[in-house]
Amino acid sequence: MHPLDKLIRPRSVAIIGASADTAKLTGRPLAYLKKYGFHGDIYPVNPRAASIGGHRCYSDIAALPQPPDVGIVLLGRGKVAAAVRELAAIGAGAAIVLASGFGEAGEEGLQRQNELKQAAGSMRLLGPNSIGLINVADDIVLSASNALVTDVLLSGSIALVSQSGGILGALLSRAQAQGIGFSRMIATGNEADLEVSDFVDHLAGDAATSVIALYLEGLRRPDAFRAAVRRASAAGKAVVAYKVGRSESGARSAASHTGALAGSDAAYDALFRQLGIIRAERFSDLLDIPQALACGHLKGNRLAVITSTGGSASLLADAAGAVGFTLPPPDAATANKLKALAVEGATLDRNPIDVTLAGLQPEIFGTVLDAVVASPTYDAVAVVLGSSALREPEIVGKPLRVCAAASGKPVVGFVSPDAPHLVRELNIAGVPTFAWPENCAAALAAMRRMIVPSDSEAPAVAAVGEDVRALLKPGALNEADSKRLFARFGIPVTREIVAATPAEAATAAASFNGNVVLKVLSRDVLHKSEASGVAVDVAPTDVTRTGEQMLQRFRQVTGHTPEGLLVQELVRDGIELILGFHRDPQLGPMVLLGTGGISAELYRDTALRFVPLSRSDARAMTDELKSAPLLKGFRGRPSADVEALVEAVTAFSAMIAAIGEHLQDAEINPLFVRPQGCGVVAGDAIAVVRTRDGG
Ligand code: ADP
Ligand code: MG
Repeated sequence: MHPLDKLIRPRSVAIIGASADTAKLTGRPLAYLKKYGFHGDIYPVNPRAASIGGHRCYSDIAALPQPPDVGIVLLGRGKVAAAVRELAAIGAGAAIVLASGFGEAGEEGLQRQNELKQAAGSMRLLGPNSIGLINVADDIVLSASNALVTDVLLSGSIALVSQSGGILGALLSRAQAQGIGFSRMIATGNEADLEVSDFVDHLAGDAATSVIALYLEGLRRPDAFRAAVRRASAAGKAVVAYKVGRSESGARSAASHTGALAGSDAAYDALFRQLGIIRAERFSDLLDIPQALACGHLKGNRLAVITSTGGSASLLADAAGAVGFTLPPPDAATANKLKALAVEGATLDRNPIDVTLAGLQPEIFGTVLDAVVASPTYDAVAVVLGSSALREPEIVGKPLRVCAAASGKPVVGFVSPDAPHLVRELNIAGVPTFAWPENCAAALAAMRRMIVPSDSEAPAVAAVGEDVRALLKPGALNEADSKRLFARFGIPVTREIVAATPAEAATAAASFNGNVVLKVLSRDVLHKSEASGVAVDVAPTDVTRTGEQMLQRFRQVTGHTPEGLLVQELVRDGIELILGFHRDPQLGPMVLLGTGGISAELYRDTALRFVPLSRSDARAMTDELKSAPLLKGFRGRPSADVEALVEAVTAFSAMIAAIGEHLQDAEINPLFVRPQGCGVVAGDAIAVVRTRDGG
């Protein structure tokens, strides 16, 4: 049994502060419990009433005949803690607290919330500031949501966990109107105790749920969330999330570019990608995508569009094409079957397959649909319902329902006129149906995503040895020291020699094969080229003179005394990337891979994943870059050593995980990715080790 079973499926419910007046919020939970058919025991608690709704009323919690599985607390904020303490004292399973004015209401509210948490002790608590939960599959409504004024609750296999009660109501009423049903709906409110992750963990093992939809404001326990989502994916359940707060207010890191590139919303995006969570880009996607996923998955991207109206089919074809679908024409066998129908004026050997108004007869449409669904040319079939469906909805509607029920292949509907009742009926009948072409396309695209548990190969975190600890001198490390640290973790770095003087540098340069790169060595300046601290392609004979000039300019520009010069191998054949590290204040350390140099900030071509990342995460990052084609050999250029890149990204992540909190900043820019077989090499490196006082 999961610890939350009692809360989700209670056999007895006490309603503290229940009222007989169903117009009041305090009157609603009891009325809803009864209205939707709760079969267990109901104990209203109210000292001023003898009975409510035919149920004997108890004067206080201590007087209850048995500890309830759930206590719904409807009291005002000042009285909540006492009631929760009493519920815990008699051994109730869990409490749901609706009152607001807690953690969301400043310092004082936060204090009140802490007291409430203490009062609950080991009893589980949902809320405060929660509208409650609705166990649709078992007809148990533990909520005061106004959206429950509806008469029938549609049930389905989508579970919703929402951090906002108002949004739960909004989605419930919209889903009802669209014909979309739920298994469970939970509003987590302020999450003083139970939070999103607890419910995702429960739903992972919930037989009534196949898709988990999340409305998120922010995650309180990212690690618990990761574990819960991985359980859900391992159980074959898709997770779809809508996250509010898209503006990039991510903290800017002074020491590196990485901070500026990784905003907090980007961090959530990375988290979702890494966990295989489908992000609902638009609010409407949070219903449309789960509804589609509850009906099935796609094996490929070949879509057939069947229509009786050209314009609407073009809309859908366009929207589907934009998200990666192809619309191949029917294969010869299918085309022949369609041609045999001899529909005058219809173009049945193309896609969209347009039966025209002439083909809008139940038998013809049914035959076309069956033939196309049976065709091996298509992975999915989308049926357009045009304005004619307003007059005669069943011509398309009936064959669509019949075919969808029998088909192993996903069949979806797009209703082009304003006909909410049609959308609703078809959804109820199990045909995912959409009122907008873009929504239909987004849902189809989501159906293509495989559910892949990502944890399978996340590497173990290694312990750091004495040799590494010796390299972790507090504060910023210079380029040479940073590289020494990175190399210790298996990241290839340029061959280089530290020289104290220009003359020493010249001697060092003579040992290189040809021209070199000369850099000023300083832990005080992180961006050397801005201080004339980098000279690329220097002939060994020019090293003394160039070195002297660079040191002098560097002193003038920065006011710092250089530690010396770095004579470095010249890399000619690499694509420049940036490999960096950023600590998201909420979600933890992450790795950033991006197009290098100035273009990193200019084009924002970056991919992010959380530490520790697996090799497949690293590979996904390289694929995600807009510049990925460049790595794979764009327009006759040699393809780059992507394997070595994947290796380096994984090693970088392992380093961050191993060093942990001590590492404040780490960046390689540029990381040169050489042609296939030649590996990668760090051209520059920054590491900042946290000082004892955290600076
Ligand atoms: P900064 O401290 O300004 O980031 P870098 O060491 O990254 O200085 O050097 C600036 C630029 O010089 C790099 O982006 C790269 O284009 C070039 N560069 C640096 N090191 C090398 C090298 N070893 N071989 C070839 N080019 C290099
Ligand atoms: Mg650099």
